Amino acid sequence: MASPLNMVEFSLSEEEEMLRDLAHEFAETELRPNSEHWDNNREYPRDAIRLCHETGLTNLHIPEAYGGMGMGVMAEVIVQEELAWGDSGFATAAYANGLTGAPIITGATDAQKEKYLGMLIDDGALCSYCVTEPVAGSDVQGINTNAVLNGEHYVLNGTKMFITGAKYADWFFVLAYTNKEAGYKGMSGFIVESSWDGVSIGKKEDVMGQRCSDTRSVIFQDVKVPVENLIGGEEGNGWFNAMSAFDLSRPCVSAHAVGVARAAYEHALAYSLEREAFGKPIFNHQMIMAKLADMKTNIEAGRLLVWKSAWLADNGQPNTEAAAHAKRFCADMATEITIEAVQIFGGYGYSEEYPVARLMRAAKVFQIYEGASEIQRLIIGREITR
Ligand SMILES: Cc1cc2nc3c(=O)[nH]c(=O)nc-3n(C[C@H](O)[C@H](O)[C@H](O)COP(=O)(O)OP(=O)(O)OC[C@H]3O[C@@H](n4cnc5c(N)ncnc54)[C@H](O)[C@@H]3O)c2cc1C
Repeated sequence: MASPLNMVEFSLSEEEEMLRDLAHEFAETELRPNSEHWDNNREYPRDAIRLCHETGLTNLHIPEAYGGMGMGVMAEVIVQEELAWGDSGFATAAYANGLTGAPIITGATDAQKEKYLGMLIDDGALCSYCVTEPVAGSDVQGINTNAVLNGEHYVLNGTKMFITGAKYADWFFVLAYTNKEAGYKGMSGFIVESSWDGVSIGKKEDVMGQRCSDTRSVIFQDVKVPVENLIGGEEGNGWFNAMSAFDLSRPCVSAHAVGVARAAYEHALAYSLEREAFGKPIFNHQMIMAKLADMKTNIEAGRLLVWKSAWLADNGQPNTEAAAHAKRFCADMATEITIEAVQIFGGYGYSEEYPVARLMRAAKVFQIYEGASEIQRLIIGREITR
């Protein structure tokens, strides 16, 4: 759907403003008050995700034909920035549906979309994106998971690693080789239900930040996957399915980074106006004021990169390079801004009693998942020389 956003005026439509306000209110009332508890207890926010779904803030991108709201990436990034401002672990957990739904929207048959996207809308079901393996993350072609056709089903074997939401997922998008000799053209995507025989889930990873989000390995051992669950009904499209999802999801994950950076900036600004040193608020020391000024500039710049990458996607234009710019810049920016926010809080910043330490731990993952910052630079380099 074409976004009504006018990129010259930089104004949001009335509908987008309403969505932003709704998401902000949800973040303020349902996420912020629980953020510390969820992180300290590594508690998955299942009830809050359900409430978010009931509030109409999830699955925005699913086409109306399958029961969704049929909104564009622009609407999604506006909502995702607010949710991550509230709690980025929650945003990562809730957005697993967005990443996982993308290869289904772009590559699945109508019957597959009706069944599996329908579950997300009607039942508030959850799904996870299974690509990374213990031996291969950035190097996706290094995966070992394979699926062998045997009559009316494929036999799927392999282990996936670091899968967001795995324990709570009703179904998985799984990338596997159906013909390893053919390289990336021999990869296929499958929809695998979590309740099927042979599917098992590993222990929750003890991660640095965003600790309410659930990250686990998923093991597929001789899982019988019906041929009708081969995405698109044809072998060899898995690489395209898996990679094209990132053009839609990277703007959203970049928006998460903007939300975290904004939260850290706001905390640091408020603190700098209150905390006094050498007889005046630390804000009035020029080195602190300059840090805050740079933070504000970089947040504004990051948001514009996010909006541009979303706008291109919504208007049917290639956005791979724009999404890589947004992801690389916003991930690095959020990491730097949260570190500077800790610095502005001084010793209190290093204490877990104040929110900036949690934000700093949370921000780091943006440089790692959905394509590490190094990989975004590789993508940009490839696009420059194309
Ligand atoms: C919290 C969390 C949630 C995640 N959720 C999911 C999920 O839901 N689904 C999923 O499939 N995966 C998920 N991942 C996995 C994530 O996408 C990978 O960790 C990431 O792609 C990096 O892969 P890796 O860990 O194997 O590191 P490697 O690929 O081994 O990379 C190690 C380092 O080398 C660098 N590097 C690698 N290749 C190059 C190169 N060619 N040039 C320069 N530098 C290079 C990387 O940038 C990185 O700094 C998640 C990870 C985390 C931490």
